[in-house]
Amino acid sequence: MTADDCLFCKLYRDGNHVNQADGFVAIRDINPQADTHLLVIPQRHIETFREVREFPPDEARRMLDFVAETARAAGLEDYKVVVNVGPEAGQTVFHLHWHILGGRSRELA
Ligand code: AMP
Ligand code: ZN
Repeated sequence: MTADDCLFCKLYRDGNHVNQADGFVAIRDINPQADTHLLVIPQRHIETFREVREFPPDEARRMLDFVAETARAAGLEDYKVVVNVGPEAGQTVFHLHWHILGGRSRELA
């Protein structure tokens, strides 16, 4: 999948953002697995967390800050931050994203 036909590149541009900062947005997951299920999407298109070294250091730091800030802004104190890396780990969209899961989680099947 290239950036040209990438769902999350499109949602970065056009999505209904619950939080945004320079180079990052957060959206609601369309199929929530917890009471609050947000996705943090960086503008920079890399396919998986494996390539996280492609982020300049300051951008990587700001991405982590944005994850924490988005959870705080959603009123979450305790929550999970999850990144699925590769299809065997459950990754289905190949543009790096961070799941923020707060409140009761759906039981895993
Ligand atoms: P992953 O399985 O880690 O790649 O996560 C992809 C996530 O994107 C899943 O939790 C999906 O429910 C979610 N998702 C897929 N399409 C959309 C969409 N159009 N808007 C919001 N979330 C989506
Ligand atoms: Zn993309």
